[in-house]
Amino acid sequence: MSLFDTLVRTTLPVTPRWVVHFVARRYVAGTTLEEAVATVQRLAAEGCCATIDVLGESVTSRELAAAAVASYQQVLEAIRQHSLDANISLKPTQMGLAIDEEFCRANIAAIIEQAAAQGTFVRIDMEDASTTDATLRIYRQLIARYPGSTGVVLQARLRRTLADAAQLASEGANVRLCKGIYLEPRRIAYCERDIIRSNFVHVLRVLLEGGSTVGIATHDEWLVCESLALLQRLGLPANRYEFQMLLGVDPELRRIITAGGHRLRVYVPFGTHWYPYSVRRLRENPTIARAGLEALLRGRLEP
Ligand SMILES: Cc1cc2nc3c(=O)[nH]c(=O)nc-3n(C[C@H](O)[C@H](O)[C@H](O)COP(=O)(O)OP(=O)(O)OC[C@H]3O[C@@H](n4cnc5c(N)ncnc54)[C@H](O)[C@@H]3O)c2cc1C
Repeated sequence: MSLFDTLVRTTLPVTPRWVVHFVARRYVAGTTLEEAVATVQRLAAEGCCATIDVLGESVTSRELAAAAVASYQQVLEAIRQHSLDANISLKPTQMGLAIDEEFCRANIAAIIEQAAAQGTFVRIDMEDASTTDATLRIYRQLIARYPGSTGVVLQARLRRTLADAAQLASEGANVRLCKGIYLEPRRIAYCERDIIRSNFVHVLRVLLEGGSTVGIATHDEWLVCESLALLQRLGLPANRYEFQMLLGVDPELRRIITAGGHRLRVYVPFGTHWYPYSVRRLRENPTIARAGLEALLRGRLEP
């Protein structure tokens, strides 16, 4: 870990909120649904589709989980009303996973029920490794009830992911593949960048060859290059994959990918819980803070 990364980690607890806000503000659409809708419309004008995330996680009360469900129902209504080219992404711990798995599943089911009725897809994000089994269990129960309406996320960082990918591909799952933001112990996770990259490519091949539809979620141009070569080799139709990127990260790469004729979905988080989200990103992956500051200096952040 570089000196900069160590510095970010150790100073984070005392970093003023405005600094966190400054580094992270480009990654969040705003605090209101209206701001999220405006961002999705702006992205659509650029030729991108979106996935909308209501910021929040690790809820410890049933009331907060219910409030998150209500927020997502409003998002779905806005997608319908404005005919947005967007789906939604949600986190199991925001839906009450830490309280009770059945409660969490019922909350996600209520959202998928409304989403399925209007033809909107629901992505269940993947959180830290302590939640992987429960998240996959919930996903499998819900996909059986709402075929085609939901999908899950795999993290190339985890050693188990290659096996999970083979299983999910055989089930025809819609999978977002990312490196994984949660830093996990070496016992269960690859810790070196090159190994994670390599596993990303292995997992992508297993998913695509096995029949999954894949969201290729990365800003790593080496991985984009490898993915494009694999897609070309396999000759898969355009509806079997899309690229996915986070709002505020490398819009130039975004434009390069869409100019190549590939579908690109931007992850658009919004809401009042921006602070914990931003702190978590900086703490769990200081490289992102470094990238954010470097991009800021190079003028690569969005205007
Ligand atoms: C759409 C989407 C959904 C995701 N969902 C999940 C999920 O459900 N669970 C999960 O664990 N993780 C999720 N992630 C995060 C993911 O796991 C990685 O932590 C994140 O994408 C960084 O990895 P990378 O592949 O972009 O490679 P990196 O090596 O981190 O980044 C590659 C390059 O991209 C640029 N870059 C990356 N991040 C930033 C930044 N913040 N600001 C400026 N430049 C940057 C830099 O130039 C960097 O060198 C998601 C990512 C995306 C894009």
